[in-house]
Amino acid sequence: MRFPVGTQEYASAVRRTLSQDPDSIARWLTPVCPECEEKPVTAGPGITTADGKIEYDRWGHLVVDGNVVVGCEAFWVVSPAVVGVADSAGWCDWTE
Ligand SMILES: [Zn+2]
Repeated sequence: MRFPVGTQEYASAVRRTLSQDPDSIARWLTPVCPECEEKPVTAGPGITTADGKIEYDRWGHLVVDGNVVVGCEAFWVVSPAVVGVADSAGWCDWTE
């Protein structure tokens, strides 16, 4: 499975933030997909980016360290602006 470059940049930024400053994104960390309200199964194969393994499941959830980072309808779960992705226009906060 390949993700658009923008999504890969976003996923890598979330992974970096999870390891360095998880408190800054704590409000968006969830093991449950906000789109289908299922807890993704992450036992499948992973994809590898520049900074490590990223897990996804057969429904298209992208899961990093047990947190749903991309929903099954391709929604970015964590605020891209907070993790430093420049192109984050149009993102809406599902926690509000
Ligand atoms: Zn889902």
